[in-house]
Amino acid sequence: MKINLGNYTWEEVKDLSDKDPVVLLPLGAFEQHGKHLPLKVDEFMVNNIAIESVKKSHKKNINSVVTPVIWSGYSPHHLDFPGTISIKDETLISLIMDIVESLFKNKLERILILNGHGGNIGILKNVLQKLKYDKNIYIATASYWDFAMKEIDNWRQSDLGGINHACEMETSLMLHMQEDIVNKENIIDNPLTRSTYTGVDLLAGGTVGVSASFKELSDHGVIGSPSLATKEKGADLFEIITNKICDFIEDFSKWKKPLNGKNE
Ligand SMILES: [Zn+2]
Repeated sequence: MKINLGNYTWEEVKDLSDKDPVVLLPLGAFEQHGKHLPLKVDEFMVNNIAIESVKKSHKKNINSVVTPVIWSGYSPHHLDFPGTISIKDETLISLIMDIVESLFKNKLERILILNGHGGNIGILKNVLQKLKYDKNIYIATASYWDFAMKEIDNWRQSDLGGINHACEMETSLMLHMQEDIVNKENIIDNPLTRSTYTGVDLLAGGTVGVSASFKELSDHGVIGSPSLATKEKGADLFEIITNKICDFIEDFSKWKKPLNGKNE
């Protein structure tokens, strides 16, 4: 079984679609990640996580495939930092819907959008509703960390505030995936010290929504504790997350259509 949809011919896709595979559509972002991580972090990491999860599912003989990553996301809050490329909400919603509709047209209908950027979460909720109520199309969406929240809580060494952006988690995962691109000498910690009612950490806050640009919260673009990141911790977490997503792929492969969570 091939992993990437881009490696199939159209004839092979006809055979693939007959098997009703799980289709992972990775959604990233292209934005600043502090002085120690590159702009590509979100799109690069979610793509690698999607590919590894599909590889694992193939070992269990589950039909699945990964589409090319959507490398840009909704990042207006990072635009004060050079290099960030942000797509407007209505453009991104249209882009995702066009891709999903194209896949559906040729019977690739068991779609999980695997997200790798917090700023896309609101967009994806909107996409789910619009696809269902405007197009009668049912898909699933999740961010990669959603599958392993309990495990991330056990894995972390930082206090709350340490996992947010270019943080203990993202830096560890990047050290595992491409160590030579991490500027370790530029690592600066910056756990967030605002009201705990707002989103201070992946695992805390967010009761109250507020708007803030990253520049208002961090001069250098980091929120969290990247100094606690290690390559070994990154390897462990990559394994945990991809195993969990593989478990979901197996479950998802058995959902009845329309894909509203009912098992066979
Ligand atoms: Zn990120």
